[in-house]
Amino acid sequence: MTVDSILDELRSRPGDGDLIPIINPVTEEPIAEFTDGGAKAVDEAVGRARASFESAVWHGLPGNERAKIMWRIADLIDQHAGDLAALDSLNTGMNFEQAKSIMGTSAEVFRYYGGWCTKLNGIAHDVQMTGGITGAYSNMHAYTLKEPYGVVGLIFPWNGPVFNAAAKLGPALAAGCSTVVKPAEETPLSAVLLQRILAEAGVPDGVVNLVTGYGHTAGKALTEHPDVDKIAFTGSTEVGKQIIGAAAGNLKRVMLELGGKSPVLIYDDADLEQAIMMAGMGIFIHSGQGCICGSRIFVQRGVYDQVVEGLSMVANGVKLGGPDEEGTLIGPLISEKQLGRVMGFIDDGKENGVEVVTGGHRLDRRGYFVHPTVVTDVDPSMNLYQQEIFGPVVAVMPFDDDDEVVALANNSDYGLAATAWTKDIARAHRLAKRLEAGTVTLNCQMVFDHSMPFGGYKQSGWGHEWGRDGVESYLQTKTVYTQL
Ligand code: NAD
Repeated sequence: MTVDSILDELRSRPGDGDLIPIINPVTEEPIAEFTDGGAKAVDEAVGRARASFESAVWHGLPGNERAKIMWRIADLIDQHAGDLAALDSLNTGMNFEQAKSIMGTSAEVFRYYGGWCTKLNGIAHDVQMTGGITGAYSNMHAYTLKEPYGVVGLIFPWNGPVFNAAAKLGPALAAGCSTVVKPAEETPLSAVLLQRILAEAGVPDGVVNLVTGYGHTAGKALTEHPDVDKIAFTGSTEVGKQIIGAAAGNLKRVMLELGGKSPVLIYDDADLEQAIMMAGMGIFIHSGQGCICGSRIFVQRGVYDQVVEGLSMVANGVKLGGPDEEGTLIGPLISEKQLGRVMGFIDDGKENGVEVVTGGHRLDRRGYFVHPTVVTDVDPSMNLYQQEIFGPVVAVMPFDDDDEVVALANNSDYGLAATAWTKDIARAHRLAKRLEAGTVTLNCQMVFDHSMPFGGYKQSGWGHEWGRDGVESYLQTKTVYTQL
């Protein structure tokens, strides 16, 4: 692969809208531009997906044949991990080794869901109401069938382009759906190579259709399209709400993985060295552009000063830079827009009296780099406390006891993830029950396993990805009664 061949292919993709620039967030220089695939490209892609679904070219294959193709996808991702990582790294500014390790995880997603292809069965049941409702029948048997929804639109953000695609394509393909894939407009490069990989692995034509374009054009057209049966979306809560509205036309099913404002609780009996390091990396890694980043840290009062100081040391100790720069751990924010948004939150906090302990400024160099930032004196009325920043900014606050910290942690519209650090394991499990979050991690942070369900409470989402729940969300259940 050469980057030029990917760019050529991207430029020649169908579109009928404006030119969209791709900007290198490390240099602020344009990499290329491509045409927005607006409503027409979406309509054509949906048509191809529908035709492939009707022909049963994918869901009609025996499960073991689909599994083999999915395992080939995984092998090819491993084989092309360097190229895929180079594209994601160029496009997002992410550290190359980090990007490469994410490719390994993405390959595992296809392997894991390939395994599900042969295990998606309904249940057989003895009918319990003697004679049925009318009393006309006896000797009844019933069973359920698990059937793919049909044509599914997959929409996701920039923060891990290949991984985000795998998270949706893995279960959708295992379930037998045909798909239209819309990556973020900022990061379309690796999607082009992934599309080649899918074809080489043997995914039949029309089963995965790539549309490149803006959210408000291509994404919106996909969510409104009357021939799309389901939308699986990862992104902001604001756009999630728009998608619910757009899906109403044909009552599309909607699965939403949305934003977060995840609390991290650090008790005075915790392994502080580990808690501080993990809580620090849990917000600064990837410049805070992760949905489960712990952006509110609550520290028991007796160790508060020590933890604030430790977090500042972590913030000052990580090297920011581009993928080509020696020793870089953390890259830039994705765009000028995101930089403006993050700095806006910091400035708003300053105006409202928060103390910036560390950071609080962009780096004095090219690129959308923000110094990892630790702020204190934050209260629940502030935007810094309530709004998702999606940047390397953490608010640290003291607490005294369980009731207080649970109330503080749950004081949020979001409910994606929560963490507690304490050696009192009984307390840890009591907290796990009381924290309003779809994922709770105890004495560990930023943990993810593709065999475990993941989803948001409150305004962090609808439905689940990953594990059995993940593949089930691309299946609908049909009940069949029969008279014997
Ligand atoms: P975003 O919602 O702006 O965009 C996400 C995707 O939706 C992009 O592909 C975009 O083009 C598309 N889109 C935008 N407007 C649309 C519309 N009207 N109709 C259809 N599609 C539209 O999100 P973002 O700012 O790019 O990404 C960051 C957000 O993603 C954060 O809120 C973060 O928490 C969230 N996120 C959530 C998870 C999770 O699993 N819960 C994972 C990663 C990121």
